[in-house]
This record gives sequence, structure tokens and C-alpha cells, in this order.
Amino acid sequence: MLRLTELRLPLDHPPEALEDAIRARLAIAPDALERFTVFRRGHDARRRSAIMLVYTVDCAVKDEAAVLARYRAAHPKDPHVNIAPEMAWRPPVTDGAALASKPGYLRPIVIGAGPCGFMAALTLAQMGLRPLILERGKVVRERTVDTFALWRKGVLTPESNVQFGEGGAGTFSDGKLYSQVRDPRFLGRRVLEEFVKAGAPEEILYLAHPHIGTFRLVSMVEHIRAEIEAAGGEYRFGTRVDGLVQDEGTGRIKGVRTAEGEVIAADHVVMAVGHSARDTFTMLQQAGVQMQAKPFSIGVRIEHPQSVIDTAQFGTSAGNPLLGAAEYRLVHHASNGRGVYSFCMCPGGTVVAATSEEGQVVTNGMSQYSRAERNANSGMVVDLRPGEDYPDDPLAGMAFQRHWERKAFEAGGRSYKAPVQRVGDFLAGRPSTTLGAVVPSYKPGVTPADLSTCLPDFAVAALREALPLFDRKLKGFAMEDAVMTGVETRTSSPLRIPRGADGQSLSTPGLYPAGEGAGYAGGILSAGIDGIRIAEAVAMDISGKTVDG
Ligand code: FAD
Repeated sequence: MLRLTELRLPLDHPPEALEDAIRARLAIAPDALERFTVFRRGHDARRRSAIMLVYTVDCAVKDEAAVLARYRAAHPKDPHVNIAPEMAWRPPVTDGAALASKPGYLRPIVIGAGPCGFMAALTLAQMGLRPLILERGKVVRERTVDTFALWRKGVLTPESNVQFGEGGAGTFSDGKLYSQVRDPRFLGRRVLEEFVKAGAPEEILYLAHPHIGTFRLVSMVEHIRAEIEAAGGEYRFGTRVDGLVQDEGTGRIKGVRTAEGEVIAADHVVMAVGHSARDTFTMLQQAGVQMQAKPFSIGVRIEHPQSVIDTAQFGTSAGNPLLGAAEYRLVHHASNGRGVYSFCMCPGGTVVAATSEEGQVVTNGMSQYSRAERNANSGMVVDLRPGEDYPDDPLAGMAFQRHWERKAFEAGGRSYKAPVQRVGDFLAGRPSTTLGAVVPSYKPGVTPADLSTCLPDFAVAALREALPLFDRKLKGFAMEDAVMTGVETRTSSPLRIPRGADGQSLSTPGLYPAGEGAGYAGGILSAGIDGIRIAEAVAMDISGKTVDG
């Protein structure tokens, strides 16, 4: 197969134009193209009056070697035609079932059933290693009821909410499935293929910016659970890990202790607890697990009418179904040295209450597959620095988050309503008392307020500088009635749990820190990729193989 990149065609091209473009690129006769598949489709909207679709295709042609040689001779510097890479995942351990049936075999434990945990468990199960998954929250359908209770009635269940429960933090989300991580082994492709097997639409395999929305994520997570169980894995819900059992001399993991006091023996424990498991991080520090403070960000969610964003991005092509609801990505380096950037943008979605602790307000965003809600929302956040904004201690970032989340709770009226401010008022430095044309989507409700009371001064200054400049890039971005909802604090983990090349904690052999909470992922796809990597590391250790083979 040959892979052709950067095939550019107008937005309204007829279907046969793609085949023609492949033949023209390779200078081959019509019957020399045997078949092709689209590997990726994105768009280039830099010129709004001439938006282009940009394809990467894999194609089988007659006399492939000769076609490639001829192409390279004619275009020696062109990097856009190559042999398609091998993308299939090959398990590093193939005798897992035999290993798992030996007397005294201890199943690997995976803590957390988020994308990192379930991809680690699936990978271990597919290798025959029968993982045990311990999840503090509930199965996804029951969890949905608890999550909606916060959104509809202002009732928080601390162990079952947007952050905790089957599917992890990304379950009630936009389900964006792309990532910037380097992925030379195409593990992201494996994650997406497993998602498609579990019911996600096939288009996620080729769209440059795929998303699946929250309802499809819920049923997908159930399918993945069924597959893990069918392959010999076991789930225990409502099971919070509260302690590690360690060898007194070496600190090596011997098992875990649950909140009910049960001890479960294990030599391999994957810690995929996400960025909000604050009690678990505290327990890990007390157990002597090495951790480091890590930068993250703080800010607000901003909402605009989706139509404003669509027109600013696509001009007269706004509304074209091939483009969908428009996204944006904005960055500004403020004069006080802070970076301001858009985060987790959700076209046609809603702002959601995302706290997991009582007396706090935290924002995030989600959408359905259709992305058909009235507003676009995005985090608008400012970078933070450990050692400057809070002490350079692994748990200090968590304390910083809690401080501002409590301030937001107070500014919202102490009822899980969130404080909101019109952009016009925020820029003018006056509290909002009423709202305008943009109706905030946050539930259980909002309170017009002064967001500068629940953000650090440097963040307020950086946001005030950035918004008018973003308006120059995206017309309407600083519109008076756009709404800001506070506070967005959980952009990534406030700490990192360092691990070696063998995937194990540097201080605690047998512990495999993984995913977003450990600082190795940021988003659903990268968390899933990390889950596969860490499952491979566990499997290699169980089978006695070293990382070098
Ligand atoms: P998590 O998904 O956080 O999973 C950790 C799991 O561990 C949880 O289920 C938790 O209950 C469990 N757990 C924690 N402590 C314990 C314990 N002690 N014992 C047992 N279990 C425990 N990312 C995207 O890529 N695209 C998006 O569109 C997107 N939208 C988002 C929208 C929202 C509202 C939120 C909150 C996040 C969103 N994210 C999105 C981020 C994404 O969800 C995370 O990056 C991803 O879920 C991280 O995966 P993870 O498996 O590392 O951790």
C-alpha cells in the first residue's frame, strides 16, 4: 500500500475527484488504481472564501514498487508519497493465558476505569492476563443518574460524579478523540479501532478532529467492559483503593487495601486514578511514593453563540455539514509573562458542573455527537507555575485548586450555582448584575458576579489582555454579552508520579503510575494510549521479558 498525504480538494468536490486526484498525483492509468481508503480527512480554512478538504489516503496500485520509484525520480524532494506504515498492534506477550493459569498467579490490578484504566485492562485481558479493575465509582448508567442530580438539583455524590465512576472523567464530555502526543507505533489507532468495535462511529478512524459526544461514550464504555469480562477480566465497582501494601524493606508492591479494609494481593498495580483523586494522591505521598509538582492552568469557561464562531471561522461556508460546528484554538503570551490559551473547546455544547468535592465549583464542557446546542464553549485558561504561584510541593497544586474552587462556590451563592460574568463587564472591571443575549448553559444555574474574586490577579490581568486580541483573530470573541463561567481548575493533573522505562514508579517497584493523574496523558486518546503502553510494560514484567526485549 502507498500512503499519499496532502491531497487537497475544494470543499464541494464531487466524490470521484478524490480518485482522480490519486491517479493524477501518481501519474497512473485509470485501471492501475486497485482500491483506496481515506486514512485522514481534515480541512484548511485559512482562506475562508476557498476552504479546502485535505486528505491522506492509502491506496493499492498495480506495480507499486515501479510506481513509487517513478514518482521519487520525478519528485525527489516531495515527502507526500510513501509506503503506508504497518499500523497493526502486536501484543508483546503471547503466552499470557499459560502464565495466568500457573499456581500462585496474582492478577494485575488496574485502579480506575477511565480511558487509561479500561484500555490497560482491555490490553491485559486480550493478552490472557485476567486483570482485576477496581473503580471507586459506579457503573456508568448509575453514575449518570448521580451526575445529573448535581446538574439538575444541585446534589453532589462525592464518589459518583463527572470525575468518578465507570468511563472516567471523559464520559460526560465532547468526546474529542485527537491528541498531539508523538505516536510512532500508532497506538492511538488501536484505541480508536477498539472504540469503533465498541460502537463509536467509523468516521473517528479518518476524521482529523473526531468526536463522539457523551451519549455514545456511555454505551461504548459498557461494550468495552463486556469485552474485558469476556476475556477474563473482572470489575469491582464502589471499591476505592485507600492504601498500598508494600514490602517493608524494599517498598515493593505486595497488594492494595480498599476503603472497606480488604487486602488484595498483587505484584503489579496500575495506578490510573485521574487528576481529581486528591485523597488517593495524599495516600500515595504518605506511602512514600515519589511525586513532583507539575504545572497546570486556571481560568474560566467562555461561551459564545455557535453561529458567531461558525461565521468567524468559515464565512459563507458556515453550516456546511462536512465542516460541522466550528472549533477554535487560541493562544496569547501576555505581557505579565503568562500564557493564555483556549482549552478543551466544545462546539455546540454545554458548560458542566465538574466538581468531585463538596463546597466547590469547577467548570468543564461537554456536547452531544450532533454538537447542535446553541453555544460554543471553551476553557480560557492561564498557565501556573509551581514554586511561584504555590509551594513546589507535590500536593500544593491541589490545595491551590481547592482554594479557588471554594471561592467560586461562594461567589456562586453556596449552592453549586456557578459565578458568571459578561465579557463586557469583565473587561470593564465591574461585576455583572444581569446577563445579555448569550444564555449560559451551566446547570444547576448561575449567579451574575465578579469573577476577579475567584481568580488570581495575574490570571485576571492576562485574560483581560488576551480577550480583545482574540477578538481580532475571531470576530465577536470579545462581544459584550459573551459569558464567562468560573472556575476552570482541572485542566490537567497538578502533579506527576515519575516512572522508569519499565513503567514502574521510581520509588515503588510494582506500582505503574499511568494516565492523566500521573502526568502521562491529557485527554481521552492520550490516556488510552498510555493505558496500552503500561499494560505492555506489566505484561512484559509478568512474562519475565525486559523492555529491550
Ligand atoms: P480518569 O478518566 O480521570 O479516570 C480515573 C478513574 O479512576 C475514575 O473513574 C475514578 O473514579 C477512578 N479512581 C480515582 N481514585 C480511585 C481510587 N482510589 N480507587 C479506585 N478508583 C479510583 N478529554 C478529551 O480528550 N476530549 C474531551 O472532549 C474531553 N472532555 C472532557 C470533559 C469533561 C467534563 C471532563 C471532566 C474531562 C474531559 N476530558 C476530555 C479529559 C479526559 O476526560 C481525561 O483526560 C481522561 O478521562 C483521563 O483519563 P484517565 O483514565 O487517566 O483518568
